[in-house]
Amino acid sequence: VSGAPVVVLAGGTGGAKLARGMLDVAGDDLVVVANTADDVEVHGAHVSPDPDLVTYWLADRIDERGWGLRDDTFAVMDGLRELGEDVWFNLGDRDLAVCLQRAERLAAGRRLTDSLRELGRAFGVRGHVLPMTDDPVRTRVKAEGTWWPFQEFMIRRRGQGPVEDVAFDGIEHAAVPPEVLEAVAGARALVIGPSNPVISIGPILAVPGMREALAAAAAPVVAVSPIVDGAVLKGPTEAFLAWAGQTMDAPGIAATYGSLLDGVVTDEDVELPVPALRTDTLMADAEGRARVARETLDFALALAR
Ligand code: GDP
Repeated sequence: VSGAPVVVLAGGTGGAKLARGMLDVAGDDLVVVANTADDVEVHGAHVSPDPDLVTYWLADRIDERGWGLRDDTFAVMDGLRELGEDVWFNLGDRDLAVCLQRAERLAAGRRLTDSLRELGRAFGVRGHVLPMTDDPVRTRVKAEGTWWPFQEFMIRRRGQGPVEDVAFDGIEHAAVPPEVLEAVAGARALVIGPSNPVISIGPILAVPGMREALAAAAAPVVAVSPIVDGAVLKGPTEAFLAWAGQTMDAPGIAATYGSLLDGVVTDEDVELPVPALRTDTLMADAEGRARVARETLDFALALAR
């Protein structure tokens, strides 16, 4: 049933790469639901790191460093440093333009959903990037007895565990946007991207009503494991899995999602509680991204039968 959405839940790196591959496979039917609990207000701008990373990937404008826009300049950050500002959060000039426009839109009462749609149009992106919620949710992480706002934990503390606690401030007052509910209900496949299951996918699933919407949807829910060759490719996934009491393998990933899952895509040859597709899950280049996306979608559609 072409025309029905293929929904990908995503954080910033693994999920974004899968989303880019899925764009080759699903085209305009692609709907990405991105984590917004990493959002941060800096330099008068509203930064939405995960939705923006996904948009930059879909626009083929992601920089090689893994964040920000290719060929961006950093004149404003240099200027702020010259003025004596503590620039702990780096943003390129054009990236800053995106986030300044967003801050203006939000201050004028517009929704994050609308701001992301406007950005997608301006960048000529096919597919849709939706936020998990339009309400403010902020991840905090406790390490060595101190609670850190998420970006400060990642940048100032370099994401260093052991993680003692995790909180999603505001989550109980957050709602799933109607656009997300509609896409999930009408989807032909629901894919949990290979992102950090605790701090990238965790907040998405914690928005009140999200788990219920995914469980009630007719489409199967499949997760792509973020563990490749027994290791994490980027970021502190291991420390957060340890805090969640899960093992650093596909069964640990599957356990964090529990009864929501209908299938898992992994490169590990292990016992799993749900059907598994065993394949190389490394998405090193465009071909790899499209291959993993195609195999994941075919696997999900076969489960639906
Ligand atoms: P962040 O928001 O930038 O920290 O990124 P995510 O939470 O989206 O992604 C981090 C996870 O992506 C890590 O656990 C990585 O192992 C995983 N990841 C990165 N690249 C790949 C890939 O090519 N394949 C798979 N399966 N996982 C990947």
